[in-house]
Amino acid sequence: MPDGNEIFFLHRIARSLSSLDCCPLILSCAGLAFRSNPTISCLEISFQTSLMTGHLPMAEAKTFSGGCLCRHIRFEVKGPALNPHTCSCEMCRRHTGALTAAWVEFPKKTVTWTGPGREPSVYRSSKTSSRAFCAMCGSTLGAIDDAPTVALLLGCFDEPADVELVPTGHSFRSGRPNWWNVEIRQR
Ligand SMILES: [Zn+2]
Ligand SMILES: [Zn+2]
Repeated sequence: MPDGNEIFFLHRIARSLSSLDCCPLILSCAGLAFRSNPTISCLEISFQTSLMTGHLPMAEAKTFSGGCLCRHIRFEVKGPALNPHTCSCEMCRRHTGALTAAWVEFPKKTVTWTGPGREPSVYRSSKTSSRAFCAMCGSTLGAIDDAPTVALLLGCFDEPADVELVPTGHSFRSGRPNWWNVEIRQR
């Protein structure tokens, strides 16, 4: 049985997440998250349960779109965008041909492949993920993980300047040449 503290947290989460009435899975996921770490905040639990279930707070469920150079592969995805970040690791560098890649992640359930090519072609790049690309024009699109997450490259978005997509973290800074400086201005 959940204790009083847990009920309080779950009640607050219930008010902040959409579709709760028809999805008891969210509550059970939230309970699991809380039990595993009782000190984490409601916001963090909401984030974790959103990732686990693909259910997102309704007020933030914005739709983004994008695709490859030749438009054979197109996508629509519902926000909120998760973990927007840059990465300068060797794998991202070779995958994109750019010194630094800008990424944003979404639960797999929220991504719809809408172009004539449907889902992109993939290259198995690691034990846990595959890199996605268009077989027609060769554009890189992102990474499709075995976990229920799709990471999309910001350069593929129709409106990459959207404030919700601004990177907030930076991975593998040491992978950049000394002369290459990435400065992110938060608006
Ligand atoms: Zn293409
Ligand atoms: Zn990387």
